[in-house]
Amino acid sequence: MHGEKRMEGTKITNVYIEKLNIPLDAPFTIATGAKYQIENVLITIELENRIKGFGEAAPLEPVNGENQGTAFATLQSCREYLIGQDVSDYRQISKHLKGVFWAQVTARCAIEMSLLDAFTKSLNIPLYRFIGGAENQIETDYTVDIVDADTAKANAKTLAAKGYRTLKTKVGKKLNDDVARVIAIKEGAPDCRIMLDANQGYAPNEAIHFLEVLEKHGIRPELFEQPVVKHDLQGMKRVKDSTSVPVAADESVFTAADALAVVKADCADLINIKIMKSGLVEALDIAAIARSANKGLMIGCMLESKLGLGTSVHLAAGLGGFNFIDLDPHIDPALEPFIGGPEFADPYYRMTSEAGIGIHKKLS
Ligand SMILES: [Mg+2]
Repeated sequence: MHGEKRMEGTKITNVYIEKLNIPLDAPFTIATGAKYQIENVLITIELENRIKGFGEAAPLEPVNGENQGTAFATLQSCREYLIGQDVSDYRQISKHLKGVFWAQVTARCAIEMSLLDAFTKSLNIPLYRFIGGAENQIETDYTVDIVDADTAKANAKTLAAKGYRTLKTKVGKKLNDDVARVIAIKEGAPDCRIMLDANQGYAPNEAIHFLEVLEKHGIRPELFEQPVVKHDLQGMKRVKDSTSVPVAADESVFTAADALAVVKADCADLINIKIMKSGLVEALDIAAIARSANKGLMIGCMLESKLGLGTSVHLAAGLGGFNFIDLDPHIDPALEPFIGGPEFADPYYRMTSEAGIGIHKKLS
């Protein structure tokens, strides 16, 4: 463009890519085996103005088909392209990378995170203010793991005492165990809202039956997430139309086009946004589609460190109006490779005035 006024010093001069391994308190089981550590990838970009931007990829094969090896390789192959780009062109860079690495969304998300971190640091404003600055504080739920009913009850009681007002649990495996655990959580924390996430685990009729059984026990969840397999929008609509419990689409929505398909099918009341499904830039489009279709919004996460989680907190606070916030931290702060970012005190994140995402690498 002729006569265009640009910021000075916002071109990328260097790109560093490294593996980010963080031990987990409890192993995380997926179909191919247990994971004992978070295996993510960190990208650091450096600008002419010496500002650094950080981005994290949090891949998980069953969700996005990526793992640490593929995300690392993708980021390596973007290195040459990124050097010399101007971070203020983040939308063009994002569009270009989506055209090439369309299937590598967590790697693209890491790049977008680093671009926006460095850009908002160059502007000297916090990321959430750049996105819109709707809220200064957000409240998260907390997940009660799949444990036996007595443990679930005790955990729910502890979480309620800590101040949590919304508890989430995973269902969709064994109906009787699921029902027993939900009842136990309700007994342990009678005043808490309960969110259930089936992670595609039920057939439509099973999902409807599950809600009927809970109703017989006097339990009405506040949210029922992804009751059926992601491609079965008709099945999800059957569940939604059979109940007044709000149904959320999670695995069904990775892209803005997916969000539009959910809206057209009218198969969900809410859409769950996760930056590791859509990237940071496309998450804004999904939010816009949901709002314009009068659908509620939820935000969730994968297995991210403070960096990825903090970015989602900035997104939720910046846009505002999320009905459900599922951003509970799961890494021991002592094991976190980062410090800073939104300040967390159960169950709230408070935004700070620090520029960018506000995350710093711990000095080792
Ligand atoms: Mg989910």
